[in-house]
Amino acid sequence: MLLWGIMLICKTLYKKKIMVEKECPKIYQCPIFKKGVLFSEQTGQTYKNLYCLKPEKYNKCKRYLVSTKSKLTIPESVMPNSSLEVDEIIEMIKTN
Ligand code: SF4
Repeated sequence: MLLWGIMLICKTLYKKKIMVEKECPKIYQCPIFKKGVLFSEQTGQTYKNLYCLKPEKYNKCKRYLVSTKSKLTIPESVMPNSSLEVDEIIEMIKTN
């Protein structure tokens, strides 16, 4: 009964967007963390610490923002801190 109550509260909070995912929902599929894309594992860990693992930060990642705005495949070369605006990235992907 207690478990049911907790689940109901969590579902309600989630619907009201009070509960925020702790990490980026794309972290386990994000292609930039594949071997050979980044200069080093340290670089990948730095991006994860700055963006992917922080609920208040992953929604500022340019890759994440592009993925929420389009269904395009985002090139591995687009980094979370890209200097391009989201629309510029989308245009770049469409023209390549
Ligand atoms: S790089 Fe961006 S899209 Fe990829 S897992 Fe990290 S926050 Fe998510």
